[in-house]
Amino acid sequence: MDTIRNVLAVIALLVVSAGLAMMATDSASAKADARAIAVTGISTVDGEQVLVHIIASVQAGKSDQEVAAAALNSVNARGLRSDEYSLLDNSWDVFSDGDPGNDFVVQRYNSKNETVGGQAAIEAARVTWNDANSPFAFGSGMESTGKCPSLVDECRGRQAFDGENDIGWVKLRDPNTLAVTWSGTTTDEADVAFNTNYSWSTDTPASATDIETVALHELGHVAGIGHSAVNGSIMEPLYAGIRRTLTTDDIEALQAWYGSSAAATATPTPDPDATATPTPVPTATPVPGTELYVGGIGTVNGDGVVYSLSGKKGRDLIITVSITSDGSTPVDGASISITSTNAGAGWNGSGTATTNSSGEARLRIRNAPDGDWVTTVNSATAGSLGCDTDCPDGPHTYTK
Ligand SMILES: [Zn+2]
Repeated sequence: MDTIRNVLAVIALLVVSAGLAMMATDSASAKADARAIAVTGISTVDGEQVLVHIIASVQAGKSDQEVAAAALNSVNARGLRSDEYSLLDNSWDVFSDGDPGNDFVVQRYNSKNETVGGQAAIEAARVTWNDANSPFAFGSGMESTGKCPSLVDECRGRQAFDGENDIGWVKLRDPNTLAVTWSGTTTDEADVAFNTNYSWSTDTPASATDIETVALHELGHVAGIGHSAVNGSIMEPLYAGIRRTLTTDDIEALQAWYGSSAAATATPTPDPDATATPTPVPTATPVPGTELYVGGIGTVNGDGVVYSLSGKKGRDLIITVSITSDGSTPVDGASISITSTNAGAGWNGSGTATTNSSGEARLRIRNAPDGDWVTTVNSATAGSLGCDTDCPDGPHTYTK
């Protein structure tokens, strides 16, 4: 699937109109009647290769190739070859640095020249990605900024990395470009611009180009995902009317970068008054290479289960489980299952996840009630290795 996705970045240049869905026919805008394609190119900023993802409308009498070439040319970018794309790691390092406290991408929003309802539509798209059962998450809400996104070619001054991930409304040079996302290939920074030359809408059916649909696609690029060959997916390289829901293909693409974090299944009941003292966590005795262990030397806090808070006002509880094969070597791709309870809140759930290359698997409990949490790692398996003497591992306690 990844190969298909990588190849698509280039195929986008070659896609012909046959078989591609048309935009909603109820469109009131002449411009919105045009079909739109998406293309990925590469350019250089501050000596670093940067990706530029463009959605451009195909006006009558124009070919997709002409439109893609003109859009790329307008920002001095060239189409990306599939072998180049496949060598790029576009994931955000904060999700694999071993620090669960920074596991979100902060974005800033400039409302100048926005179409009414634009911010809410973009926010909805951000939440959709956050709900894709992956450790990847955009930070809660967007900070406001008055700046033009620094990586966007059309902003005043030279293109530059400024350490901020900005979204704004900009008059883009290419007349066919609807929206663009610029992202670093080494530096973790991504900027998005919606073209103010276009008519945008948030209504259903769409009276112009749907902001949330385009935002969902561009935010997929921000997360590091390339184009998909799957019809109907958000990351398909075209705009074909309202699409505000991720497909399995989109979710798998996100999880290919960041792993999965199955949300536990119970319905939380708030219990704001509960308090408790965490109890010591038992430690496994490592036996090199014969079985899996929960935690061990070199894992976060020296413990195999670490709690952290995330999301708006820290409402979400992140449970990070570390797995080693001998007490010190992280195991990639281990399947783990846990149960977590908050008795005071009447909360009882279970979940499964897979470890990443750091040997860590993360589960997110959304809107976790305050109180005393108890987590047990029931099992861990990777190939022929199981968690025999160390599982079930726990209880691991935490007071939220
Ligand atoms: Zn795209």
